[in-house]
Amino acid sequence: MNSHDLRRLDNSHVWHPFTAMSAFRDEQAPIIVEAEGFHLIDTEGRRFIDGHSSLWCNIHGHRVPAIDEAIQKQLNRVAHSTLLGLSNEPSIALATELVQQAPLGLNKVFFSDCGAAGVEAALKIAYQYHRQKSNPSEKRDLFVCLEQAYHGDTVGAMSLGGIDPFHSLFGSLLFPAKRVPTPGGSRRQRDRNSNPPTGFAFRTNIFDSSRLLSETEELAELERMLEENAHRIAGFVIEPLVQAAAGILVHPHGYLKKVRELTQRHDILLIADEIAVGFGRTGTLFACEQENVSPDILILSKGLTGGYLPLAATLVTDEIYNAFLGDPWLGRTFQHGHTYTGNPLACAAALASLQLIHTNQVVPNAQRMSEVLRREMTSLTRSDPPHQRQTSTHARVLEVRQKGTMVGIELVQDNAELSPFPPEKRVGHLVTTACRRRGVILRNIGDVVVLMPAPSMPEPLVVELCQIVKESLAEISTLVI
Ligand SMILES: *Cc1c(COP(=O)(O)O)cnc(C)c1O
Repeated sequence: MNSHDLRRLDNSHVWHPFTAMSAFRDEQAPIIVEAEGFHLIDTEGRRFIDGHSSLWCNIHGHRVPAIDEAIQKQLNRVAHSTLLGLSNEPSIALATELVQQAPLGLNKVFFSDCGAAGVEAALKIAYQYHRQKSNPSEKRDLFVCLEQAYHGDTVGAMSLGGIDPFHSLFGSLLFPAKRVPTPGGSRRQRDRNSNPPTGFAFRTNIFDSSRLLSETEELAELERMLEENAHRIAGFVIEPLVQAAAGILVHPHGYLKKVRELTQRHDILLIADEIAVGFGRTGTLFACEQENVSPDILILSKGLTGGYLPLAATLVTDEIYNAFLGDPWLGRTFQHGHTYTGNPLACAAALASLQLIHTNQVVPNAQRMSEVLRREMTSLTRSDPPHQRQTSTHARVLEVRQKGTMVGIELVQDNAELSPFPPEKRVGHLVTTACRRRGVILRNIGDVVVLMPAPSMPEPLVVELCQIVKESLAEISTLVI
C-alpha cells in the first residue's frame, strides 16, 4: 500500500493516544515502516534519528541482532503461556537477573505488561501489605505523591498524577492523595525572580510565588506532613531524580535519600517509579543508585525490553512478599494479575537487553553522552536581556534541564516577563515539526522540547541530533509566531 492509501486508512480508523486528532489529520506525520540502528524509516524512504527513543523505551537502537535472535529463538519454542498457576522459563531467568541487578533487598518480581499496570500492582500490594503485616494497620489507605507527578493513565495511577491537562478532567473518578511540592520548585522560582535574564527558572503559573521555600524548609514541611499523617499513609510514590513527563524536572541532590529516611522512620513504603529513568538514562543503571537508596517497591517498564515489547516488573522486598503468604483459604493471596503477565517473548527480549547493557557498556556510554549533550546545549541559554515588550512574537530558551541523557528545553516568550506562550501557538510542537523536516523525531511536552536519545547512541549521532535541534530552535525563535 502506498503512503496516500495508508494515511487515508489511518485517518479513517486509528485513534492515536495523546493526539489531537483533528490537527493530526492535516499533519502528514511519517508512517514508519522499518528501522535501522538509531534511525526510523518511513513509507517514503525518509530516515529520521529516533531522538526520543521511540517514546523513552529504546535502549540499544532498533533491529539489534542479539535481541532479534533471542525473540526468534523463543518464538520457535512458545510465544505465550500464562503465569497464573504455571511457570515459564524466560520469566524465571529474567526475574533472577532483575533481582541481581536491582537495588539491594528487592527479591520478588511481579510481572505485568505496561508501566501503568506495574504502578497499579504496586499500589494494591502496598495497600494490602499494611493490612496483613505482622502489626496490621487498617487505616493506611493514602498515598503521597509529588506535584506534577506522572505514573500512567489508568485510574489508580492517574490519582497520583499532577499534570493538569492529563488529569484534572477526571477529578471525580480519582481517589484522594497527599501531594507534596516538586522538590526544587521554589528554588527555580526564586532564581527566576532574582535573575530573570539568564534563565534557570520555572514558569510562574505552576508555583505559588508567595510561598518560596528554601530546600531546608521544603524538607521540613515534608517531614511535618509525614509526621502528622503517617498513621494514614500506605506509600510514598516517586519518580526518582527526574520527573520526566512534567518536562524533565530534576530534583535537588539528597531529596530521594531524605524521603527514604522519612518513609523508613514512619513505616511508609517507598515506591520508586523508575519506568522512565531506569536502564541507564540518568547515568546509572537505576536512578535510586545515585543516592544509595533501596526502595521497598521498584517499578520498571519502558526500557525493560530494550524498547522491543511491552512488559513491566514490580519488584518488592521479602518483607512485603511474606505478608501475602499463608494457607490459601486465609485470603492473604494477592488477587491481581493480567492475562499476558510474564509473556515469554517479552521476557526473552528483556533478558537479551540486560545482557547487552553490560557487554556493550551502555551505562558508561550514557555518562559520556550526557557530557556531549551538556556541551552541545550550553549555547542555548542566552545571556542577553529579554525584550522589554509586554508581549513577544519571538521564542527564547528559558532553561535547559538535564539529567544523564534526558534533556528538556523550555521555551517562553522573549518579553520582560519571560511569560509562557498561549497554548494555541503550539510553539513546542512547531519546534518538533521543524526537527522532523530536518530528519529527527522528537516529541514535545507543551513548550518543553524533550530529547531522550537511547543511552547507547554513539557520539556522532548525538551531536547530529543536537545540531538539528539547535537549527530548528533558531528557525522557530526568529519566526513571527
Ligand atoms: C511512561 C510512564 C508511565 C506509564 O507507562 P505506560 O507503559 O505508558 O503505562 C508511568 N510512570 C512513568 C514515570 C512513566 O514515564
